Amino acid sequence: MADSEIVSVIQANLSAVRQQIDAACVRSGRNPDDVRLVAVSKYAHWTWVTALAEFHSLFGENRPQQLAERQALLPQVEWHLIGQLQRNKVRLAIQHAHTIHSIDSVRLLERIVVVAADLNIRPRLLLEVNVSGESTKAGFHPDELRSAWNQICRFSGQAEIVGLMTMAPEADDPEEARIHFAALNRLRNELSDLAVNSVTLSELSMGMSGDFVPAVEEGATLVRIGSRLFEGLPRVE
Ligand SMILES: *Cc1c(COP(=O)(O)O)cnc(C)c1O
Repeated sequence: MADSEIVSVIQANLSAVRQQIDAACVRSGRNPDDVRLVAVSKYAHWTWVTALAEFHSLFGENRPQQLAERQALLPQVEWHLIGQLQRNKVRLAIQHAHTIHSIDSVRLLERIVVVAADLNIRPRLLLEVNVSGESTKAGFHPDELRSAWNQICRFSGQAEIVGLMTMAPEADDPEEARIHFAALNRLRNELSDLAVNSVTLSELSMGMSGDFVPAVEEGATLVRIGSRLFEGLPRVE
């Protein structure tokens, strides 16, 4: 496929997704400017990434190594880490990621603040919550987060804790995800009311290709979209 064709496929996909986001905002009385689209490029060829970076400047990667490599090549893009972070990859992650969505334990947060102090960086973080309670999912359980909340707020001098993230269970009907997104929004409100050290949970990272419409209607400020942006392109080997 010629480069110009790749650009036009991606451009059409992006604008179709963006229109659905904007329509969901209108339906739910929200300002479309309050919803940003994180283009998830974990399965994307480098040529697709550079094509999309011509007109989009917020990308998400799952693995710290790939994020670091791509961030070095496209530093003008805002790179978010959305996948699980191992403690031994913390240094790499906070050096290259603008925001990390996947803080799933106090232990990880403790490691991050130590490394961040050493690097003189104040990383921007979201806490991942397992709202549906599936045993296979990463993230804080809501009650675990409630009980650790005071302790977490105390880290806010060393790390900017800006919101919550979740992944809904896989389902054929996107409407099934809605209750989980609504629950994340309620949990955010509850924790914000109790927050100390002026922690403000303004970001809600929720919604992927299959379920971003209900996520936006339930208050998402960051939607993480991968496959929908790159559909119609040849498969990556
Ligand atoms: C891959 C991934 C996405 C994007 O998934 P799509 O269904 O391809 O849109 C979003 N969030 C996380 C955490 C992911 O790993």
